[in-house]
Parts: sequence; C-alpha cells; structure tokens
Amino acid sequence: MDFTISEKMQAVIGMMAEFVERELIPLEPEFLTKDFKAMLPELVEKRRMVKQMELWAPNHPKELGGMGLDLMEHALVSEVLGRSPLGHYVFGCQAPDAGNIEILHKFGTEKQKEQYLKPLVAGDIRSCFSMTEVELPGSNPVMMDATAVKDGPDYVITGQKWYTSSADGAAFAIVMAVTNPEAAPHLRASMIIVPTDAPGFNLVRNISVMGHTGSDYFSHAEILYQSCRVPRENLLGPEGFGFVIAQERLGPGRIHHCMRWIGICHRVFDLMCARASERIISPDRKTLSTRQIIQSWIAECAADIQAARLMTLHAAWKIENLGVKEAREDIALIKFFVANVMQAVIDRALQVHGGLGMTDDTIISFLYRHERAARIYDGPDEVHKMAVARRIIKGYVGRKIK
Ligand SMILES: Cc1cc2nc3c(=O)[nH]c(=O)nc-3n(C[C@H](O)[C@H](O)[C@H](O)COP(=O)(O)OP(=O)(O)OC[C@H]3O[C@@H](n4cnc5c(N)ncnc54)[C@H](O)[C@@H]3O)c2cc1C
Repeated sequence: MDFTISEKMQAVIGMMAEFVERELIPLEPEFLTKDFKAMLPELVEKRRMVKQMELWAPNHPKELGGMGLDLMEHALVSEVLGRSPLGHYVFGCQAPDAGNIEILHKFGTEKQKEQYLKPLVAGDIRSCFSMTEVELPGSNPVMMDATAVKDGPDYVITGQKWYTSSADGAAFAIVMAVTNPEAAPHLRASMIIVPTDAPGFNLVRNISVMGHTGSDYFSHAEILYQSCRVPRENLLGPEGFGFVIAQERLGPGRIHHCMRWIGICHRVFDLMCARASERIISPDRKTLSTRQIIQSWIAECAADIQAARLMTLHAAWKIENLGVKEAREDIALIKFFVANVMQAVIDRALQVHGGLGMTDDTIISFLYRHERAARIYDGPDEVHKMAVARRIIKGYVGRKIK
C-alpha cells in the first residue's frame, strides 16, 4: 500500500486548503446566522473563482467538466474541503449531487445525461435523492410503500418520503419506488428521475432538524408524491435495479463522507488545541493545556483521528485496487468508526471551549448538532456493526482455534 501524495496532488490540495482558509471560513459567521438562500449570490461568486482556478468538480470525469481525480485523490480533497461546511458545495462535489452524478454517469441514457447530468456537473442545477419513508424503517429500505405504476407512456408515483436532503430548490429528484411488487425484495424497486415541477411532486415542508429548518441546499424535505406523473423514459437503469444501483452509490460515497468527517476532526482539533494553549485558568496564569486531563484528550484525539484517517485511506485503496465487493467489510467499518471518532472529537473540542463552545461564535456547536446525523444516515451504526460482525463470525464457524 502506497499513500504517497503526488506533486500534482500536493499542489491541488495546497490551493484548495488556502481557498477554504481565505475565502470560505470568513463566510462562516454569516452562514451560522443567515438563511442559506440569502448567501447564494456570494457562494455563486466563490464557485466562479473555483472554476477559474480549474478546481471545480474534483471527483467528476474530465469529459463532463470535472477534474477527473481518482478515489484516493478525491479522498484527500474531501479531507481538505471538510474543514468548512461550505467546502464541498463551493467546489461542486457536495452530497447528494455527487452520488446522483455517479449513477447518472454510469446508468443514464444519452438523453438523461444531456438533460440532467451535464447541467448538474456544471453546477447550474441541483438534485436530491428520495428513498427514506416517514412510516417505514430507512435502515431496512426494502420495506418500501412508495409505488410507481405504469400508465400508458408514464409512471405514476405515489408515496410519502422524508429526509429528501436539498430538495428545496432542486431541479429533480431521483426517487426509489416499487415497480415490481412480485419480485424478490431486492429487485422490487426502481430509480426514477422526477423533475420537481412534475405534477404531483409536493414539497410539504423543510423539516426542522436540531432546531434548524434550513433552506435551499442546507435543508431536508418531506415530499408527498401524489399520483406524480413522469414519462417512462425517466427510469434510471433497468427496472427493479434500484437497490443494485443504490449500492453503487454508497461505496465511494462513504469514502467521501468519511474523509469529510476527518476534515471536520482536523478543524475542531486545531480549535481545541489553540483554545487550550491560550485559555488561562488560574491566577498564576497557567493555561488549560498545562492540565494533564486536557493533554490526555489531545493525545487521544490525535491518535483516533490518525487511526480513522488511515482506515479510510486503506478502504479507498482497497476499492480502487480490488473493487467495492472486496472492500465491503472495510466500508462498513469506516462508516461507524469514523462517525464515532468525529463525534467524540467534536464533543471534546466543545468541552474545552466551555461556555464559548455552546455559542455560535465558533463553528463547533454547529458541527456538534449537524454532524450527529453521521451515525444515522447511509445506514445507522448498529446495522453496519451487525453486518461486519456477521461476516466475521461466519469465518469462525466450524474452526478450531487453539
Ligand atoms: C441528516 C440526514 C440526512 C438524510 N438524507 C437523506 C436523503 O437525502 N435521502 C434519503 O432517502 N434519506 C436520507 N436520510 C434518511 C436516512 O437514510 C435514514 O434516517 C436512515 O437510513 C435510518 O432510517 P430511519 O430514520 O427510518 O431509522 P429506523 O430504521 O427507524 O432505525 C432507528 C434506529 O434503530 C436502530 N436500528 C435500526 N435497525 C437496527 C437493527 N437491525 N439492529 C439494531 N438496531 C437497529 C438504529 O439505532 C437506528 O438509528 C437522511 C437522514 C438524516 C438524519
């Protein structure tokens, strides 16, 4: 395994890190207090600057206008951009668009690519992914009520979804709905492209999450598909292949997420160490960093971040060299391990900041609230742990270990 960073990538990462520091972090106080929609003009300008520097859409193919980086390279990019909640959005590699781009590129028809993929990569439109349902367990999505029934040249979609992230202002949704109710559980549902102005697409509300309703890209919507009609040609990939395609979407996506979380860890770790070094806590002018318990936290966080980072890079290396199937266990391991490391590191950074940590004067309290979801979306911790443990235990059945 070789994690050497090429000279080209060192330059790219350096430029991105500088941009995040100089152009994005100064926008964060506004981001924390303003509606996201109100920030769009400024963010459009930042995106223009990124395009001019030829750093736009790092993970997307060159022929589509991206930088064409491979998974290992994009992992390093995701880490750097993760330092700010605005990073991925401004560089055109934000979820859920990144995953939708991947599957449109792989499974889309020429017409779908022209109509949806091209403007999506260019950042001219946004998209969302609508799978989780209000009444059924998202952790076991083969239990699905939403249906897409053929009617003449159309599909008619009926269902109630929620947590369709970024639906507000999106041009289209990729919707999972049951098309083949008699098929085996994993072959029942299909992915269908639904323009958000299609008749019957109803955005009921942006859900209030951790006290914040959000807007535009930074929001999570409840959507009611009421006999929502789209042409059959909007089917993405073969009928009944919804879950097969969803699996494709998740492997590399996990690497992107985990490296973004590592970026968050670096950011709050820096804030924690800086605060511990400057905060005077006794009349003899000793700082917090002189206290053994704080030193212990700092050392533990440094070790945890390093372990999480190497595990993620190793999983990315395995996906690239051996394929997603071979890397399944590693992908499940990093999903819960890195999410928990991030949560613990953010928590310690907040604790070190005391009352200041609870305010919105630093980014920490936003990250504390916003990133809690990492242990739930893309499969809750428990589901990944069970899957990994089952596979491990299988290898021991009938074995005599001395
Ligand atoms: C911020 C955020 C963004 C999201 N974005 C999207 C999106 O864009 N599109 C989309 O379709 N969905 C999205 N989701 C939904 C997400 O995928 C689901 O919330 C997730 O799959 C869990 O499903 P659920 O909420 O229905 O929880 P449930 O399935 O009801 O599970 C609840 C809890 O039960 C436990 N549990 C579940 N199964 C087991 C088990 N087998 N053994 C032991 N314990 C178990 C876990 O602790 C789990 O957290 C998002 C969610 C969040 C929080």
